Amino acid sequence: MDLFKKCSSTVNEVNRALALEIYPFFTPIESVQDHRVTIDGREFIMIGSNGYLGLAADPRIKEAAMNAVKKYGSTCSGSRFLNGTLDIHVKLEHDLANFFEKDGAIVFSTGFQTNLGIIPSIAAKDDIIIIDRQDHASIIDGCRLSFAELKKFRHNDVKDLERILKTLPDDKGKLIVVDGVFSMEGDLAPLPEIVDMKKKYSARLLVDDAHGIGVLGEKGRGACEHFHIMDDVDMIMGTFSKSFASLGGFVIADKNVITHIKHTARALIFSASMTPSSVASAQTALNIIQSEPERRKRLMEITKKVLTGFHDIGLDTGNSVTPVIPVIIGEEEKCFGFWKMLRENGVFANPVISPATPPGRALIRTSYMATHTDEDIETVLDVFSRCAKQFGLVKT
Ligand code: PMP
Repeated sequence: MDLFKKCSSTVNEVNRALALEIYPFFTPIESVQDHRVTIDGREFIMIGSNGYLGLAADPRIKEAAMNAVKKYGSTCSGSRFLNGTLDIHVKLEHDLANFFEKDGAIVFSTGFQTNLGIIPSIAAKDDIIIIDRQDHASIIDGCRLSFAELKKFRHNDVKDLERILKTLPDDKGKLIVVDGVFSMEGDLAPLPEIVDMKKKYSARLLVDDAHGIGVLGEKGRGACEHFHIMDDVDMIMGTFSKSFASLGGFVIADKNVITHIKHTARALIFSASMTPSSVASAQTALNIIQSEPERRKRLMEITKKVLTGFHDIGLDTGNSVTPVIPVIIGEEEKCFGFWKMLRENGVFANPVISPATPPGRALIRTSYMATHTDEDIETVLDVFSRCAKQFGLVKT
C-alpha cells in the first residue's frame, strides 16, 4: 500500500473547493495584521484575527523588535536549556510571574508547544487527564504525548466532569485541563465550579487562557481573574500570538512546578528558544496590557455592539461573551458559501468546520480588535445583515 495515496484524496478535495471558489485557507495577506488588511491589492475589514488588542502595528512593538534584532541578532540558535537563554527571556518570565502574582513562569517558542511541553511534564503514564471535549488541539496532542489515561467530559458540563471524577481511584494523579475562553465559540469555561470539583476530588487544574489573557479581567489577566479564582488555579497557560502581538507561549505556576517543567518538558529542552524579536515584542505588549486598560474597555464595547447587532439580525452566536463571536451556520457547504459572500463584500472572516467544531456545527468565526473603528463595525453589521438575508440564513 502506498502511503502517499491519502495525499491524492486531499488534493482532490482541495481542487474541488478551488474550482467552486470556496477554498478559504492560506490566503496571502499583503499588509500588517490590523483592523483592515490588503489581499490582492484590495482592502478588507479583518474580523478573523486573534490580535485582540490591535498591537501588531503598534510602533512601540515594532521598534522593540527591531532594537532586539540589532542587539541580539535574529535567533538564539539553540534551546533555552543550553545556549538559547537570553537576559530578556529571564526578564519576561520574571515580569509575567509578577503580573499574575505567582512565583514562577517559563516561556516556550509557541503556544502549541507550550501545551505539548507542560502536559506530559506534569501528567505521565500512571496519571489521568480529564479534558473538556472542545479543548484546543494542542491540549489533546499534549495529552497524547503524555501516555496518561485520557477522559473527556461534555462541553462545559460540570455534572459530567463530576461523573468522571467520582469513578477515579484516589491513588492516581489527576489533571483537569480546560480552555478559559473556548477558541472557536468564545464561550467561557465555568471555572468557579471546575475549581470546586478539583478541590473536592484532589485534582490539579490547568487553564489554557490563550484567548482570555489581555482581554478579560480587571487587569487583563484573563478568565481566571474575571472569575476571581486566580489563587485556585494551579497552572495558567497563555500564548504571545494573540493579545501580545508576538509569537511564543508561557505557563505560570508555583516555582517548584516551573523548575520541574524547565527540566523535563521536551518541547522546551529539544527546541530552539523564542527569537529575540519575539521576546521584545511580547515584553512591550505586556507593558502595554498593564498600562493601557482603555484597550480592553474599547474591545468590550465593540464586543457588546457586535453581539447586540448580530442578535438583532437574527444570527445565532452560541454562548459567546467575548471578542470571539461565532455565527453558527450548521452545514459545511452552506458555511463556505456564506464565507464566500462575506469575502466578496470586503469582510475577512474564518469558516470553521469539524474537527475544530462538533460535526454539523460549522460556523463563521468572527473576532474583534481594540483598533476596529465604529465605521468598521457598522460596515460588518450591514454586510452580515444583507448577506444573511440574501443567503436565507434569517428571515427577510
Ligand atoms: N491554545 C489555544 C486555546 C489556542 O487557541 C491556540 C492557538 N489557536 C493555542 C493554544 C496555540 O497557540 P499558538 O498559535 O500561539 O501556538
